[in-house]
Amino acid sequence: MEDAIADRLAALRAELDGELRACGRPAGSVAILGVSKKQPASSIAAAALAGLGDIGENYVQEAAEKFSAPGLAASGIRKHFIGHIQTNKAKALVQLFDVVQSVDRADAAAALGKAAASAGVVLPVLLQMNISPSERFGCPPEQAEALAEMVRGIPALRLDGVMAIGPDVSDRGEIRRAFELAAKTFAAVGGSTLSIGMSGDWREAVRAGSTMIRIGTALFGERRV
Ligand SMILES: *Cc1c(COP(=O)(O)O)cnc(C)c1O
Repeated sequence: MEDAIADRLAALRAELDGELRACGRPAGSVAILGVSKKQPASSIAAAALAGLGDIGENYVQEAAEKFSAPGLAASGIRKHFIGHIQTNKAKALVQLFDVVQSVDRADAAAALGKAAASAGVVLPVLLQMNISPSERFGCPPEQAEALAEMVRGIPALRLDGVMAIGPDVSDRGEIRRAFELAAKTFAAVGGSTLSIGMSGDWREAVRAGSTMIRIGTALFGERRV
Protein backbone atom coordinates (compact mmCIF):
# COMPACT_ATOMS: atom_id res chain seq x y z
CA MET A 1 0.00 0.00 0.00
CA GLU A 2 2.85 2.37 0.83
CA ASP A 3 4.55 1.57 -2.47
CA ALA A 4 1.25 2.27 -4.19
CA ILE A 5 1.17 5.77 -2.67
CA ALA A 6 4.75 6.50 -3.78
CA ASP A 7 3.94 5.19 -7.28
CA ARG A 8 0.75 7.25 -7.52
CA LEU A 9 2.58 10.38 -6.35
CA ALA A 10 5.31 9.89 -8.97
CA ALA A 11 2.73 9.25 -11.70
CA LEU A 12 0.68 12.30 -10.67
CA ARG A 13 3.79 14.52 -10.67
CA ALA A 14 4.63 13.35 -14.19
CA GLU A 15 1.07 13.96 -15.41
CA LEU A 16 1.00 17.36 -13.72
CA ASP A 17 4.27 18.39 -15.38
CA GLY A 18 2.89 17.23 -18.73
CA GLU A 19 -0.23 19.34 -18.25
CA LEU A 20 1.87 22.35 -17.19
CA ARG A 21 4.08 22.07 -20.26
CA ALA A 22 1.01 21.75 -22.47
CA CYS A 23 -0.28 25.09 -21.22
CA GLY A 24 3.08 26.85 -21.29
CA ARG A 25 3.72 26.86 -17.56
CA PRO A 26 6.99 25.68 -15.97
CA ALA A 27 7.15 22.09 -14.67
CA GLY A 28 7.16 21.96 -10.89
CA SER A 29 5.21 25.22 -10.55
CA VAL A 30 2.15 23.62 -8.93
CA ALA A 31 2.35 22.05 -5.48
CA ILE A 32 0.53 18.81 -4.69
CA LEU A 33 -1.34 18.78 -1.38
CA GLY A 34 -2.36 15.27 -0.33
CA VAL A 35 -5.85 15.21 1.18
CA SER A 36 -5.70 12.58 3.90
CA LYS A 37 -9.18 12.80 5.45
CA LYS A 38 -10.47 9.33 6.26
CA GLN A 39 -7.08 7.84 5.48
CA PRO A 40 -4.83 6.27 8.12
CA ALA A 41 -1.80 8.05 9.60
CA SER A 42 0.38 5.37 8.00
CA SER A 43 -0.67 6.65 4.57
CA ILE A 44 0.40 10.18 5.47
CA ALA A 45 3.75 8.83 6.68
CA ALA A 46 4.20 6.88 3.43
CA ALA A 47 3.42 9.98 1.37
CA ALA A 48 5.83 12.10 3.43
CA LEU A 49 8.54 9.50 2.90
CA ALA A 50 7.84 9.64 -0.84
CA GLY A 51 8.51 13.38 -0.75
CA LEU A 52 5.04 14.88 -0.37
CA GLY A 53 5.45 18.28 1.28
CA ASP A 54 1.86 19.20 2.15
CA ILE A 55 -1.22 17.42 3.47
CA GLY A 56 -4.76 18.59 4.13
CA GLU A 57 -7.33 17.48 6.68
CA ASN A 58 -11.02 18.44 7.05
CA TYR A 59 -11.87 17.47 10.62
CA VAL A 60 -10.19 18.75 13.79
CA GLN A 61 -10.71 15.64 15.93
CA GLU A 62 -9.53 13.24 13.22
CA ALA A 63 -6.46 15.38 12.54
CA ALA A 64 -5.58 15.60 16.24
CA GLU A 65 -5.61 11.80 16.50
CA LYS A 66 -3.53 11.21 13.38
CA PHE A 67 -0.99 14.00 13.86
CA SER A 68 0.07 12.56 17.20
CA ALA A 69 1.06 9.26 15.55
CA PRO A 70 4.78 8.57 15.94
CA GLY A 71 6.82 9.58 12.91
CA LEU A 72 4.46 12.21 11.60
CA ALA A 73 5.63 15.04 13.82
CA ALA A 74 9.21 14.40 12.70
CA SER A 75 8.36 14.32 8.99
CA GLY A 76 8.19 18.12 8.71
CA ILE A 77 5.17 17.86 6.40
CA ARG A 78 3.12 21.07 6.24
CA LYS A 79 -0.39 20.61 7.54
CA HIS A 80 -3.28 22.50 5.96
CA PHE A 81 -6.81 22.73 7.32
CA ILE A 82 -9.28 22.55 4.43
CA GLY A 83 -12.56 21.87 6.29
CA HIS A 84 -15.31 24.13 7.54
CA ILE A 85 -14.14 26.40 10.37
CA GLN A 86 -16.07 26.32 13.63
CA THR A 87 -15.09 29.36 15.66
CA ASN A 88 -14.99 27.35 18.92
CA LYS A 89 -12.22 25.20 17.35
CA ALA A 90 -9.96 28.14 16.48
CA LYS A 91 -7.45 27.39 19.23
CA ALA A 92 -7.14 23.74 18.16
CA LEU A 93 -6.75 24.78 14.53
CA VAL A 94 -3.86 27.08 15.43
CA GLN A 95 -2.23 24.32 17.49
CA LEU A 96 -2.61 21.59 14.87
CA PHE A 97 -2.15 23.30 11.50
CA ASP A 98 0.48 25.35 9.66
CA VAL A 99 -2.01 26.87 7.21
CA VAL A 100 -5.80 27.36 7.27
CA GLN A 101 -7.21 27.42 3.72
CA SER A 102 -10.87 27.77 4.54
CA VAL A 103 -11.40 31.29 5.93
CA ASP A 104 -14.77 32.19 4.44
CA ARG A 105 -16.25 34.79 6.77
CA ALA A 106 -15.36 37.56 9.18
CA ASP A 107 -16.12 35.73 12.44
CA ALA A 108 -13.91 32.79 11.42
CA ALA A 109 -11.07 35.20 10.61
CA ALA A 110 -11.52 37.05 13.90
CA ALA A 111 -11.52 33.83 15.95
CA LEU A 112 -8.39 32.53 14.20
CA GLY A 113 -6.66 35.88 14.59
CA LYS A 114 -7.38 35.92 18.30
CA ALA A 115 -6.16 32.32 18.76
CA ALA A 116 -3.01 32.93 16.70
CA ALA A 117 -2.22 36.11 18.64
CA SER A 118 -2.52 34.37 22.00
CA ALA A 119 -0.33 31.50 20.74
CA GLY A 120 2.24 34.07 19.61
CA VAL A 121 2.24 32.97 15.97
CA VAL A 122 1.38 34.45 12.59
CA LEU A 123 -0.95 32.03 10.81
CA PRO A 124 -0.93 31.83 6.99
CA VAL A 125 -4.50 31.69 5.65
CA LEU A 126 -6.35 31.48 2.34
CA LEU A 127 -9.83 32.83 1.66
CA GLN A 128 -12.25 30.11 0.62
CA MET A 129 -14.38 31.30 -2.27
CA ASN A 130 -17.76 29.86 -3.19
CA ILE A 131 -17.64 29.27 -6.95
CA SER A 132 -20.31 26.61 -7.20
CA PRO A 133 -24.05 26.48 -6.44
CA SER A 134 -23.58 22.97 -5.00
CA GLU A 135 -21.18 24.19 -2.29
CA ARG A 136 -22.53 25.19 1.11
CA PHE A 137 -19.51 27.13 2.32
CA GLY A 138 -17.22 29.81 0.98
CA CYS A 139 -17.27 33.58 0.63
CA PRO A 140 -19.28 34.91 -2.32
CA PRO A 141 -16.69 36.19 -4.85
CA GLU A 142 -18.22 39.67 -4.84
CA GLN A 143 -17.42 39.93 -1.11
CA ALA A 144 -13.82 38.72 -1.48
CA GLU A 145 -12.13 42.09 -1.42
CA ALA A 146 -13.98 43.22 1.71
CA LEU A 147 -13.05 39.98 3.51
CA ALA A 148 -9.45 40.29 2.31
CA GLU A 149 -9.24 43.82 3.71
CA MET A 150 -10.62 42.63 7.04
CA VAL A 151 -8.11 39.74 7.21
CA ARG A 152 -5.22 42.05 6.29
CA GLY A 153 -6.18 44.15 9.30
CA ILE A 154 -5.50 41.23 11.67
CA PRO A 155 -1.77 41.20 12.54
CA ALA A 156 -1.68 37.52 13.57
CA LEU A 157 -2.98 36.37 10.16
CA ARG A 158 -1.08 36.41 6.88
CA LEU A 159 -3.26 36.35 3.78
CA ASP A 160 -1.61 34.12 1.17
CA GLY A 161 -4.33 33.74 -1.45
CA VAL A 162 -7.49 31.88 -2.35
CA MET A 163 -8.92 28.35 -2.11
CA ALA A 164 -12.05 27.05 -3.85
CA ILE A 165 -13.88 23.80 -4.53
CA GLY A 166 -15.02 23.27 -8.10
CA PRO A 167 -18.59 22.26 -8.95
CA ASP A 168 -19.36 18.55 -8.69
CA VAL A 169 -20.65 18.23 -12.25
CA SER A 170 -19.59 16.42 -15.41
CA ASP A 171 -19.78 19.49 -17.66
CA ARG A 172 -16.09 20.41 -18.22
CA GLY A 173 -17.08 23.88 -19.42
CA GLU A 174 -18.92 24.61 -16.18
CA ILE A 175 -15.88 23.44 -14.18
CA ARG A 176 -13.58 25.61 -16.29
CA ARG A 177 -15.75 28.69 -15.86
CA ALA A 178 -15.92 28.20 -12.09
CA PHE A 179 -12.12 27.94 -11.85
CA GLU A 180 -11.75 31.03 -14.04
CA LEU A 181 -13.92 32.88 -11.52
CA ALA A 182 -11.66 31.64 -8.70
CA ALA A 183 -8.59 32.85 -10.63
CA LYS A 184 -10.19 36.26 -11.17
CA THR A 185 -10.93 36.53 -7.45
CA PHE A 186 -7.36 35.46 -6.66
CA ALA A 187 -6.06 38.26 -8.89
CA ALA A 188 -8.15 40.76 -6.90
CA VAL A 189 -7.24 39.38 -3.46
CA GLY A 190 -3.53 38.86 -4.18
CA GLY A 191 -1.04 36.46 -2.61
CA SER A 192 1.01 33.52 -3.81
CA THR A 193 -1.37 30.57 -3.59
CA LEU A 194 -4.39 29.65 -5.68
CA SER A 195 -5.56 26.33 -4.23
CA ILE A 196 -7.93 24.82 -6.81
CA GLY A 197 -8.27 21.36 -8.34
CA MET A 198 -9.02 17.91 -6.87
CA SER A 199 -8.70 14.33 -8.18
CA GLY A 200 -11.42 14.76 -10.79
CA ASP A 201 -10.79 18.32 -11.99
CA TRP A 202 -7.12 19.24 -11.43
CA ARG A 203 -6.39 19.55 -15.16
CA GLU A 204 -9.00 22.30 -15.56
CA ALA A 205 -7.65 23.96 -12.41
CA VAL A 206 -4.08 23.95 -13.72
CA ARG A 207 -5.28 25.47 -16.99
CA ALA A 208 -6.98 28.23 -14.98
CA GLY A 209 -3.80 29.05 -13.02
CA SER A 210 -3.83 26.82 -9.94
CA THR A 211 -0.64 26.90 -7.87
CA MET A 212 -1.74 24.07 -5.55
CA ILE A 213 -3.92 21.05 -6.30
CA ARG A 214 -5.57 19.14 -3.44
CA ILE A 215 -5.56 15.43 -4.22
CA GLY A 216 -7.26 12.78 -2.08
CA THR A 217 -8.45 9.59 -3.78
CA ALA A 218 -6.07 9.77 -6.76
CA LEU A 219 -3.17 9.65 -4.30
CA PHE A 220 -4.40 7.68 -1.28
CA GLY A 221 -7.13 5.54 -2.86
CA GLU A 222 -10.74 5.31 -1.73
CA ARG A 223 -11.52 6.85 1.66
CA ARG A 224 -12.50 4.58 4.54
CA VAL A 225 -15.66 5.83 6.23
C1 LIG B 1 -11.88 15.81 0.13
C2 LIG B 1 -11.36 17.11 -0.39
C3 LIG B 1 -10.41 17.14 -1.45
C4 LIG B 1 -9.90 15.91 -2.18
O1 LIG B 1 -10.89 15.29 -2.93
P1 LIG B 1 -10.54 14.09 -3.95
O2 LIG B 1 -11.65 14.14 -4.92
O3 LIG B 1 -10.49 12.84 -3.16
O4 LIG B 1 -9.22 14.41 -4.58
C5 LIG B 1 -9.91 18.38 -1.82
N1 LIG B 1 -10.32 19.52 -1.22
C6 LIG B 1 -11.22 19.53 -0.23
C7 LIG B 1 -11.63 20.82 0.39
C8 LIG B 1 -11.77 18.32 0.21
O5 LIG B 1 -12.69 18.35 1.18
